[in-house]
Amino acid sequence: MPPTHTIIQVAVPVPLRQHFDYKPPANLALPGLGCRVRVPFGRRQLVGVVVGVSNSTAVGPDRLKSIIEVIDTLPVLNDTMLGLLRWASGYYQFPLGEVIQAALPVALRRGAGTKVSGPLIWSSNPEIGLNELEALGRAPLQRKILQALLHSDKGLDSAELKSISSGWRSATAALERKGWVSSTEQACLQKVTTAPDTPPAPSEHQRQASTTITERLGQYGCFLLHGVTGSGKTEVYLRVISEVLQRGQQALVLVPEIGLTPQLVDRFRRRFAVPIAVLHSGLSDQERLCAWLMAAAGDAPLVLGTRSAVFTPLARPGVIIVDEEHDGSFKQQEGFRYHARDLAVVRAHREQIPIVLGSATPSLESLHNSQRQRFQLLPLPQRAGNAQLPQVHLLDLRGLPMEEGISHPLKKALAGCLERGEQSLLFLNRRGFAPVLMCYDCGWLAPCGRCDAKLTLHKARGRLRCHHCGSDTPLISHCGGCASKNLHPIGEGTQRLEDALAARFPHARILRVDRDSTSGKGSLEEILRRIHNGEADILIGTQMLSKGHDFPNVTLVGVINADQGLYGLDFRAGEHLFQRIMQVAGRAGRGDKPGQVLIQTYHPDSPYLQALKNHDYAAFAQFALHERQQTELAPYSHLVLLRAESPRSHAPLNFLHAAQQCAGKLLDQTPLPVQVMTAVASPMERRAGRYRAQLLIQSSHRSALQQFLNELLPDLEKLHLSRSVRWSVDVDPMDMF
Ligand code: ADP
Ligand code: ZN
Ligand code: ZN
Repeated sequence: MPPTHTIIQVAVPVPLRQHFDYKPPANLALPGLGCRVRVPFGRRQLVGVVVGVSNSTAVGPDRLKSIIEVIDTLPVLNDTMLGLLRWASGYYQFPLGEVIQAALPVALRRGAGTKVSGPLIWSSNPEIGLNELEALGRAPLQRKILQALLHSDKGLDSAELKSISSGWRSATAALERKGWVSSTEQACLQKVTTAPDTPPAPSEHQRQASTTITERLGQYGCFLLHGVTGSGKTEVYLRVISEVLQRGQQALVLVPEIGLTPQLVDRFRRRFAVPIAVLHSGLSDQERLCAWLMAAAGDAPLVLGTRSAVFTPLARPGVIIVDEEHDGSFKQQEGFRYHARDLAVVRAHREQIPIVLGSATPSLESLHNSQRQRFQLLPLPQRAGNAQLPQVHLLDLRGLPMEEGISHPLKKALAGCLERGEQSLLFLNRRGFAPVLMCYDCGWLAPCGRCDAKLTLHKARGRLRCHHCGSDTPLISHCGGCASKNLHPIGEGTQRLEDALAARFPHARILRVDRDSTSGKGSLEEILRRIHNGEADILIGTQMLSKGHDFPNVTLVGVINADQGLYGLDFRAGEHLFQRIMQVAGRAGRGDKPGQVLIQTYHPDSPYLQALKNHDYAAFAQFALHERQQTELAPYSHLVLLRAESPRSHAPLNFLHAAQQCAGKLLDQTPLPVQVMTAVASPMERRAGRYRAQLLIQSSHRSALQQFLNELLPDLEKLHLSRSVRWSVDVDPMDMF
């Protein structure tokens, strides 16, 4: 075929399960696979990615349009990444154009160039000083900025200038025009110059684990590194990475959202004197692009990031590591609902490199995979160094007197800790003052007007807030049912606990760590720094405080309400309860002093709590896996959840009933080992003013389920009712709300 007949297949970011055909641009070189192009789409112009070339098309010659612009000469997505995204599009039943869009940094989605440019730093020019400051008497903002620049030795970046004033840009530009200030471009990633730390001598288990993994470099292998809390998993990652770097290859490390702290990044920086690309949601578009391009070019040997970093291309991939692989933040919960751990495993297979999944409490899915020999289990059964696992006690609350949520034994233990000058940590996974506000006269509970949920009292700010939709209203003084003034907060939140402890231990320095106390930029860092410096005696925290942090001086962990998770609506509630408490209990006794954990519960016989008491992950796993097998749920069955929502109350169920019928008909025609359940309202039916319903489809045969979805979804798109709701497909759903 002569090149004039070449058809370019382009994936564009629209919610349609197809690519679109275009003619190559006139007089320009043909764009390669994985290159971005600008194309006409309806009345708009979109940035798409070339995903194929063909010499035929179903589009008539008069309707076939030309590519407007070829943006890249070199592909932004190499063959492996394009292949991975194509696979993900099929597996998660999400349009390829939107999958690609999700995988690219925002700047590239918009068509930005791929030149790496670092952030700008402004500084005052030499010989500029007091005279110039004085001359700025009538330009107070310029004066303020010049003053700040004169006071800084390294200059200020855009964020720092912005914190001085939102009008910094024009003021700084004016100073630049005067020739008093100039900007320079920083290197995109700073190189570490200090001498790296020397690693500790590995324990026998650590040595075995890292050797087993490094022996597999250059080929695929999936390892489940199951190490108790504080066993030195990170140390194993570091040993493996060190070997990878020595071979001139790159390592990609994925961590949970809360896990990516400056402390962790520091630990990597201190070990390796190489540029590290760090990718997380707090970056500006430019910073993200910069990190992404450095990784793709191979200029960053080490890439550290949260969920979406799984899509970062690597020039010389050597290993992928997923820390805390059980963590829920690896699952994207809207739009393209992928699981970064699962995609990382598929990616490692395609790249032919080893992957390490690390956890103290592996997900049942990963454990099941290790039992089926798909993953190789590497155990670290002991804590590193001299640290011992903490003693765990269950405090049976039945009949125990309680004071503001704290039982007597817990109070005594706290007092002991304070006396010895040791830190304690209280875990309560409920921020705010109290989870409900109740009328003592009629039993009315202050509801959210937009959700089937109660409002949380935030007393200090005098607000009632919904933790599901974010609605935020002033505190009321009268009952909504009977107008009585007899309103009382019920239950415990972290703020109430803080108040109670401050009253009970007036001399203790108390630090609360939850989304409210850490909402400002850098405030979590500041709080963690204070904890490490011993500037706090009692820490109160939600699960924000439970993960990954190493607090060597914490010797007591108290779990205020272990039962919260026992009545969860989700089939994974028990698993999550176990993982959460095990993680937080793991904060105790990580240093030289022994730790103890006190768990308050009304259900001390629960098998989950018994397993926690004995540090017995195996007993938990056996029990939980048995339960999943009996109920035919994941990991024994593959699940797909169809969700629908609408402001109109009947629309979601109407659509899903129709969907259920479609599915039934399909199964009559081609019998597959697939079960279609009954469409039901979601456990929390109304959320943020929308009614929600769901339909569960499951099968023990992955491929049968995929085949079924491939046939079903086009049918659903044709359903008239599908236009009256917002609906989505969640493959391997992580929650069933
Ligand atoms: P994990 O990632 O399993 O929670 P870390 O790797 O953070 O564990 O190790 C916990 C603590 O033990 C850290 O302070 C670490 O420096 C230390 N550590 C790890 N391995 C060793 C070792 N082989 N010898 C001495 N200390 C170690
Ligand atoms: Zn709400
Ligand atoms: Zn009332």
